[in-house]
This record gives sequence, C-alpha cells and structure tokens, in this order.
Amino acid sequence: MNPFTVRLNLHGDLDFFLRAEARGRSIERSLGEKTSVKDVIESCGVPHPEVDLILANGQPVDLHYAITSDADIELYPVGAGIPKFKEQRLQATIVSGFVADGHLGKLARDLRLLGFDVAYDSRAEDRQLLRVMERENRALLTRDRRLLMHAVVKSGYCPRSQNADEQAVEVIRRFDLLRSLAPFSRCLRCNAPLRKVSKAEVLERLEPLTKIYYEQFRCCTGCGQIYWAGSHFSKLQKRLEKIRANCG
Ligand SMILES: [Zn+2]
Repeated sequence: MNPFTVRLNLHGDLDFFLRAEARGRSIERSLGEKTSVKDVIESCGVPHPEVDLILANGQPVDLHYAITSDADIELYPVGAGIPKFKEQRLQATIVSGFVADGHLGKLARDLRLLGFDVAYDSRAEDRQLLRVMERENRALLTRDRRLLMHAVVKSGYCPRSQNADEQAVEVIRRFDLLRSLAPFSRCLRCNAPLRKVSKAEVLERLEPLTKIYYEQFRCCTGCGQIYWAGSHFSKLQKRLEKIRANCG
C-alpha cells in the first residue's frame, strides 16, 4: 500500500487535547497501512468518547471507519452546534449515571448534591472503574485520557477545568442535565437516595441543639446518615446557585 496523508480538523473545544503549539491548526498524519479513524484520532491525543461527529471527506462515518487513502477528517465534540447529520452522532447525551475516578472526589460530591447518581471510590483502580461503568451502564468521568481511550468506554467525559464547581457545570452541559437537577435528594457520602423522615423517627439520633432548632429531616436509604438544613446548608445552597447560574 502506498503511503497516504490524513488531515484532521478539530472543532469546538477538542483542541484542548492537543499540545499548546498544535492548537488552532490542522493536523497531518502520514500512514502506510489501513487504519481505523478511532486509532488516528486517539494517536493525536483525543479520546473517542469526546468525538460526537466524524466527517471523512464530507461524509459522516463511525469510529471503526477504515482509512486507506488520502482523507480530510473533521471532528466535532458534543454540542458543537452543527445542525446537519443529527442521525450520525456518536455520543449519547442521556445517561443513567456516572462513575468518577479517584481524583474527582469533589466533582462526585457536587454532582450528588445536585441529585445525580455518581459511583465513586477514592481507591478504585482503573479496571474497577471500567467494570462499574460497564456493569451499571454509567458514563466515565476522568481526566485520564488514556483511560477514556479504553475500547470498552462507550460514554465518558474529561473535565477541562481543574475546579470542581466548573467541572460540574461542564458535566451538566455535556450531558444536558439542567432540567434533571434534584438538589438534596441524594446522600453525599454513599450516593443512595434520601427519603423524608419525621422528626420523631430520628429524634433519638439528633444532637441536643439540632433537636431544638430543626424540624425537617431526610435520611439516607443506604447508610442512614441524617440530613437537615444546618449550618453547612446555606454554604451548599450558595454553591448550588452558582453552579445553576453558570449552566444557564
Ligand atoms: Zn448514605
């Protein structure tokens, strides 16, 4: 097979994955053998779950598409705003839950605060994350691009920001979650749903001052943790409002 050239154009914020000096230009790769578009994309540093639409010489293709001769490849992230090819999108926006890697503890907490189902274990190793992702059909949240490139990852996202609140905003945008917010409905510690309980039900487990000042309580259906609108609550509420405002 004669060598051939693949030119890639990255749209939206996909050049986040390129080295600074490579951003804003098209990338050229010389190839000597049939190569899948997934392998070409990932050799440039872009994990496949980040790519929502691939055009090869103007036509939509999937990740397995084999490149065998000169080609112009256009890559678009989710939400890049191009109206055509709605049927050929590669990423699901609707997911039932997430699994976050061990470095994203604050993000996991933020998302739980907003009511989203996030599996998180600070000690989980990569293969455990992938197992939970597959078994429970969750989207993987990680800043480890290599992990996101793993072939079994169907849905995932690499937060661009290093700030947890900004990451939460990114995730809400990426997975179109703004209308699904259900704040204070999930346990921040263990991820299980909370249920409303009467004061009488939890009375004997409350501190003396909490007994005096609060009337409404929720209890975790998983670990039994009791929640009420205590001193930390207004702080959480403020963060929540900020996240919400930034999502709009
Ligand atoms: Zn809990």
